[in-house]
Amino acid sequence: MNFLEERIVKDGLVKSGNVLKVDSFLNHQMDIALMEEIGREFKRRFSDKSVTKVLTIEASGIGIAAFVAKEFGVPLLFAKKSKSINIDGEMYVAEVESFTHKNKNQVIVSKRFLGVGERVLIIDDFLANGCALQGLISIVESAGATVEGCGIVIEKGFQIGGRVIRNMGYRVESLAIVDAMDAETGVITFREQK
Ligand code: 5GP
Repeated sequence: MNFLEERIVKDGLVKSGNVLKVDSFLNHQMDIALMEEIGREFKRRFSDKSVTKVLTIEASGIGIAAFVAKEFGVPLLFAKKSKSINIDGEMYVAEVESFTHKNKNQVIVSKRFLGVGERVLIIDDFLANGCALQGLISIVESAGATVEGCGIVIEKGFQIGGRVIRNMGYRVESLAIVDAMDAETGVITFREQK
């Protein structure tokens, strides 16, 4: 088991509805030493890429992506969730359905901060059905920028997102892939990774 899998086994909680709660160390209270290690691990995995910007989605992606951006020495940009329908032409917009809240949000990124020639590493805390990633990818593509890859902290491998995004031709690196989890026993099974 890698450092993250060990931490998930120690402090993660399996909830009903295919939800893994990691709010004691990842997305509510954050263990900063762990964040630093996550940042370094993404830098190692994407060391062959010359990244110019890290992109994530608010809110829980921001803290994690900050450590990745620091490792690459590039700005962190985050897509904002917006309820407003009247978005002026200064924004890239995508519609994202939230896995945890079951509602749809428009997410927006200012055209001032993303454009042709940028090489973008997308970071998020979880990959479930892939809606959040697909929204971020569509924003990068509509800016004429390039997706260098997607870095995910925890992929739930029993949901379709990972397969869909990889089948679209994007490189997805997940630090932990959960292949099965049982809300009754709390047992979590990870996919073997090289
Ligand atoms: P997707 O768009 O891939 O269906 O879901 C990804 C988003 O939903 C992530 O940004 C994350 O915030 C949230 N999410 C999905 N599954 C889980 C989960 O099991 N636990 C937590 N805490 N968040 C999740």
